Amino acid sequence: MFRSLRWRLTFWFVLLTSIVYAVTVASGLWLFRAEMTRLVDEELADLADELRPSIAIKNNVPSLEEWSMKPRRVPFKFTQTIQIYDPRGKLLEQHGPHGIPILYLNEHEIKDPLYHARVYATPLFDGKKLIGYIQIELSLKNIERSANQFGQTMAILAPFLLLGLGAAGFVFSGKAAQPIEEGFHVLQRFMSDAGHELSTPIAIIQANAEAMEAELPDLDESLKGRLPVIYRSIDRMANLVQDLMLLSKMESPVSRKNLAHQLDLGRLVRHAVEEMQELFKTELIELKAENLAPVTISGDAESLKRVVTNLLQNALRYTDKGGVVQVGLENLGRHAKLTISDTGIGIPPESLPLIFDRFYRVDKSRSRAQGGSGLGLSIVKAIIEAHKGRIEVESKLGSGTTFTVFFPLGSRPITLLPS
Ligand code: ADP
Repeated sequence: MFRSLRWRLTFWFVLLTSIVYAVTVASGLWLFRAEMTRLVDEELADLADELRPSIAIKNNVPSLEEWSMKPRRVPFKFTQTIQIYDPRGKLLEQHGPHGIPILYLNEHEIKDPLYHARVYATPLFDGKKLIGYIQIELSLKNIERSANQFGQTMAILAPFLLLGLGAAGFVFSGKAAQPIEEGFHVLQRFMSDAGHELSTPIAIIQANAEAMEAELPDLDESLKGRLPVIYRSIDRMANLVQDLMLLSKMESPVSRKNLAHQLDLGRLVRHAVEEMQELFKTELIELKAENLAPVTISGDAESLKRVVTNLLQNALRYTDKGGVVQVGLENLGRHAKLTISDTGIGIPPESLPLIFDRFYRVDKSRSRAQGGSGLGLSIVKAIIEAHKGRIEVESKLGSGTTFTVFFPLGSRPITLLPS
């Protein structure tokens, strides 16, 4: 239980840190690209301003021909494409690497599979008259390459980081789970000790009540009438103590025994049904078990029978007279599927996740009146999990409930039994 808690904590830790890592890298890349784009735009705007005085205007036509003949200063190495357009957007001149002959107003990004560049265009005036545009374009190839390099480096580092985080997570989750584990063992010991301590006084009360009844035949009628109440309470208390001791034993790794026997689950279910048939008849509830496939599973017969009887007891408790309870068993190849459905009162949706918790009861008074302790389903779940199976529940308020249990076929489970 705690081993799986530790692995679960480690898994969540690694999963969450991986998500944080992936989001951080993705945001880093995004920020890097955004910042580089901003810098390129600034550089293009500065360049346009620097070039503006060098533009010669002849007959209202702007030109950089003369400037392009001159030896250039260091920043103008022609990594940029410089274009001059007329006021209607017709390309007049192009200097530097070949660019796309389209005038884009303001900043623009050209992005296609082969080419990725930023473009900046600004109008040129002679006095107040618009005589054309200068447009500068710079390829983002280098920036893209740096960003890809960064992404690849982070991806290469990721498995090492995850491995390190996994190891750290495993150590820390072990430390975090330790106090919970200790607390749980203290509680378990307490439950087991309290159970043992309580069994003796319960047995003494029962023996004395019986002796009183036997030795005092003339006991006042009203006092005699109280004896059944005492016996019922003793029964309830004894069952409760037994259930608590069973639960604490099942969850203690020390008392785990490998008791895997091959057994015919179909036969086991049929026996449990037959044993309870009379009780159902008394309550005028029909108990049907027509489809029980012969399925052999590995497990412990006594605890598996407890699963079936607990589920049947619940079906009986929470189904009104005239109802029907149906038991089915199928062989699904890799799993055995046991279903117990009733046409009873059903369970409200908000209670469904809680019914396997200890002492949880939807309707305390109904459960108590029927002799329930709220431990039945916790025991069922613990036994099923010890057999590496799982239990599911579906219910509709007022219509009925179906419990479905899956047992793996062919594995050797660790089962737990009270000694
Ligand atoms: P209890 O001893 O009270 O029956 P369980 O652990 O067996 O305790 O069940 C927990 C609660 O789940 C019950 O109190 C009841 O409210 C609900 N429950 C269990 N089985 C059924 C069922 N077949 N139909 C309706 N409610 C059920």
